[in-house]
Amino acid sequence: MMRLSIGNEWEESAVCKSVDPDLWFPDAGEFKQEPITICMDCPVRRECLTLAFEERHEHGIWGGTIASERAPLLANYIRRGKHDRERVIENLLMQTRKKTEKNLAARLATKNRRLAKQKELEIKNAG
Ligand code: SF4
Repeated sequence: MMRLSIGNEWEESAVCKSVDPDLWFPDAGEFKQEPITICMDCPVRRECLTLAFEERHEHGIWGGTIASERAPLLANYIRRGKHDRERVIENLLMQTRKKTEKNLAARLATKNRRLAKQKELEIKNAG
Protein backbone atom coordinates (compact mmCIF):
# COMPACT_ATOMS: atom_id res chain seq x y z
CA MET A 1 0.00 0.00 0.00
CA MET A 2 1.64 3.17 -1.20
CA ARG A 3 0.18 5.62 1.28
CA LEU A 4 1.48 3.83 4.36
CA SER A 5 4.94 2.55 3.51
CA ILE A 6 6.51 3.79 6.69
CA GLY A 7 8.09 0.53 7.65
CA ASN A 8 5.45 -1.03 9.89
CA GLU A 9 5.64 -4.80 9.65
CA TRP A 10 1.85 -5.13 9.59
CA GLU A 11 1.67 -3.18 6.34
CA GLU A 12 2.80 -6.35 4.58
CA SER A 13 -0.60 -7.85 5.42
CA ALA A 14 -2.62 -4.85 4.27
CA VAL A 15 -5.31 -5.96 1.81
CA CYS A 16 -5.04 -2.61 0.00
CA LYS A 17 -1.33 -3.07 -0.60
CA SER A 18 -1.86 -3.83 -4.25
CA VAL A 19 -4.86 -1.62 -4.95
CA ASP A 20 -4.88 1.96 -6.25
CA PRO A 21 -4.35 4.08 -3.09
CA ASP A 22 -6.45 6.91 -4.55
CA LEU A 23 -9.51 4.78 -3.83
CA TRP A 24 -8.93 5.47 -0.11
CA PHE A 25 -8.88 9.21 -0.65
CA PRO A 26 -12.18 10.16 -2.26
CA ASP A 27 -12.90 13.83 -2.92
CA ALA A 28 -14.35 15.82 -0.05
CA GLY A 29 -18.00 14.98 0.51
CA GLU A 30 -17.83 11.93 -1.75
CA PHE A 31 -18.71 8.57 -0.20
CA LYS A 32 -17.24 5.36 -1.57
CA GLN A 33 -18.37 1.99 -0.29
CA GLU A 34 -15.80 -0.09 -2.18
CA PRO A 35 -12.67 0.75 -0.15
CA ILE A 36 -14.61 0.50 3.10
CA THR A 37 -15.84 -2.96 2.13
CA ILE A 38 -12.27 -3.99 1.28
CA CYS A 39 -11.08 -2.74 4.69
CA MET A 40 -13.60 -4.96 6.48
CA ASP A 41 -11.70 -8.04 5.32
CA CYS A 42 -8.29 -6.63 6.13
CA PRO A 43 -6.39 -8.45 8.91
CA VAL A 44 -4.61 -5.25 9.98
CA ARG A 45 -7.66 -3.04 10.25
CA ARG A 46 -7.02 -2.34 13.93
CA GLU A 47 -3.39 -1.34 13.33
CA CYS A 48 -4.38 0.86 10.42
CA LEU A 49 -7.07 2.69 12.39
CA THR A 50 -4.73 3.11 15.36
CA LEU A 51 -2.13 4.65 13.06
CA ALA A 52 -4.71 7.12 11.77
CA PHE A 53 -5.45 8.25 15.33
CA GLU A 54 -1.84 8.25 16.47
CA GLU A 55 -0.71 10.30 13.47
CA ARG A 56 -3.89 12.42 13.37
CA HIS A 57 -4.80 11.58 9.79
CA GLU A 58 -7.75 13.81 9.05
CA HIS A 59 -8.36 12.70 5.49
CA GLY A 60 -9.05 9.44 3.76
CA ILE A 61 -10.33 6.03 4.75
CA TRP A 62 -8.37 4.25 7.46
CA GLY A 63 -9.37 0.93 8.94
CA GLY A 64 -12.69 1.18 7.13
CA THR A 65 -13.59 4.50 8.74
CA ILE A 66 -14.19 7.81 7.03
CA ALA A 67 -12.85 11.13 8.30
CA SER A 68 -16.18 12.28 9.77
CA GLU A 69 -16.38 9.12 11.89
CA ARG A 70 -12.91 9.67 13.37
CA ALA A 71 -12.96 13.44 13.81
CA PRO A 72 -15.38 13.63 16.78
CA LEU A 73 -13.33 11.02 18.66
CA LEU A 74 -9.88 12.43 18.12
CA ALA A 75 -9.73 14.96 20.97
CA ASN A 76 -10.97 12.32 23.39
CA TYR A 77 -8.45 9.80 22.05
CA ILE A 78 -5.53 12.18 22.54
CA ARG A 79 -6.46 12.87 26.17
CA ARG A 80 -6.80 9.19 27.09
CA GLY A 81 -4.31 6.62 28.30
CA LYS A 82 -3.36 3.48 26.36
CA HIS A 83 -6.20 1.30 27.68
CA ASP A 84 -8.91 3.85 26.92
CA ARG A 85 -7.41 4.56 23.52
CA GLU A 86 -7.69 0.87 22.68
CA ARG A 87 -11.34 1.01 23.70
CA VAL A 88 -11.99 3.97 21.40
CA ILE A 89 -10.47 1.96 18.53
CA GLU A 90 -12.39 -1.23 19.38
CA ASN A 91 -15.72 0.60 19.56
CA LEU A 92 -15.15 2.36 16.27
CA LEU A 93 -14.08 -0.88 14.57
CA MET A 94 -17.27 -2.54 15.80
CA GLN A 95 -19.58 0.35 14.89
CA THR A 96 -18.21 0.72 11.39
CA ARG A 97 -18.44 -3.03 10.77
CA LYS A 98 -22.10 -3.00 11.75
CA LYS A 99 -22.75 0.07 9.61
CA THR A 100 -21.00 -1.48 6.61
CA GLU A 101 -22.94 -4.73 6.95
CA LYS A 102 -26.16 -2.75 7.10
CA ASN A 103 -25.21 -0.70 4.02
CA LEU A 104 -24.27 -3.80 2.07
CA ALA A 105 -27.51 -5.57 3.05
CA ALA A 106 -29.52 -2.52 1.94
CA ARG A 107 -27.67 -2.39 -1.38
CA LEU A 108 -28.27 -6.09 -1.95
CA ALA A 109 -31.96 -5.72 -1.16
CA THR A 110 -32.25 -2.84 -3.63
CA LYS A 111 -30.44 -4.85 -6.29
CA ASN A 112 -32.71 -7.86 -5.71
CA ARG A 113 -35.83 -5.69 -5.93
CA ARG A 114 -34.59 -4.22 -9.21
CA LEU A 115 -33.87 -7.68 -10.63
CA ALA A 116 -37.28 -8.96 -9.55
CA LYS A 117 -38.98 -5.99 -11.26
CA GLN A 118 -36.92 -6.55 -14.39
CA LYS A 119 -37.91 -10.22 -14.45
CA GLU A 120 -41.55 -9.31 -13.93
CA LEU A 121 -41.38 -6.94 -16.89
CA GLU A 122 -39.70 -9.57 -19.08
CA ILE A 123 -42.40 -12.11 -18.25
CA LYS A 124 -45.11 -9.54 -18.92
CA ASN A 125 -43.57 -8.55 -22.24
CA ALA A 126 -43.10 -12.19 -23.30
CA GLY A 127 -46.72 -13.03 -22.54
S1 SF4 B 1 -7.74 -1.42 6.91
FE1 SF4 B 1 -8.14 -0.69 4.86
S2 SF4 B 1 -6.85 1.10 4.56
FE2 SF4 B 1 -6.10 0.00 6.35
S3 SF4 B 1 -4.48 -1.33 5.63
FE3 SF4 B 1 -6.36 -2.52 5.59
S4 SF4 B 1 -7.27 -2.28 3.56
FE4 SF4 B 1 -5.69 -0.68 3.85
